[in-house]
Amino acid sequence: MSDPALPDGVERREVNGEERLATRGEPVYGEPTADGWRAWDPERSKLGGMLELGLETGLTGGETVLYLGAASGTTVSHVADFAGPTYAVEFAPRPARDLLDAAEPRDRLFPLLKDARKPDTYAHVVEADVDAVVQDVATRGQADVAVRNAEFLTEDGRLLLAIKARSEDVTAAPEAVFEGALDRLRDAYEILETRRLDRFHEDHLGVVATPK
Ligand code: SAM
Repeated sequence: MSDPALPDGVERREVNGEERLATRGEPVYGEPTADGWRAWDPERSKLGGMLELGLETGLTGGETVLYLGAASGTTVSHVADFAGPTYAVEFAPRPARDLLDAAEPRDRLFPLLKDARKPDTYAHVVEADVDAVVQDVATRGQADVAVRNAEFLTEDGRLLLAIKARSEDVTAAPEAVFEGALDRLRDAYEILETRRLDRFHEDHLGVVATPK
């Protein structure tokens, strides 16, 4: 059934007898499928977790997306199933090889073997008017990466960010790490919503923000 909080192209469907978040497309990571729909596992996807928890992502379907930290394509393949042009940045060659396989049957998914800290290296490829930057890089300096990529977003675009506390500091309290990251984000963004993603991802914060 379609759900008004979900983008067009993302539905709750019965897969293997269970109601699951799902998109239509070729399977990528051994996820269960039914009638052309592939279950989107929120335990393997920060954005899936954010949608499952009901964050207001602003995604409606068909938008231009810049995805930072695509790895082997688990989440970005679901995004490309419902979004418009989807640019997927990943700097590690090994997962990027699997990302190419995920992109093969998806004509709107464009893998870029690039460093998300260096947006100048892909600015000539990515369209200027990006509606959503989705970020899951899980490395030190996560807020800084988001700030550097704010330039791509349209005025009312959305940053959908997952911050992993332990990637910033393994010893600090997650709340302190999140506060520091949100402070840095405020250099370029207005924070619209934050939510702990612990039900699916321990010590992660989901953030929805818009450029200042
Ligand atoms: N988002 C993926 C998903 O849900 O399918 C999982 C991403 S994994 C947690 C983090 C990925 O970010 C890794 O593959 C890592 O190589 C990548 N990454 C980290 N820093 C990066 C950077 N500066 N530029 C590009 N990719 C980066």
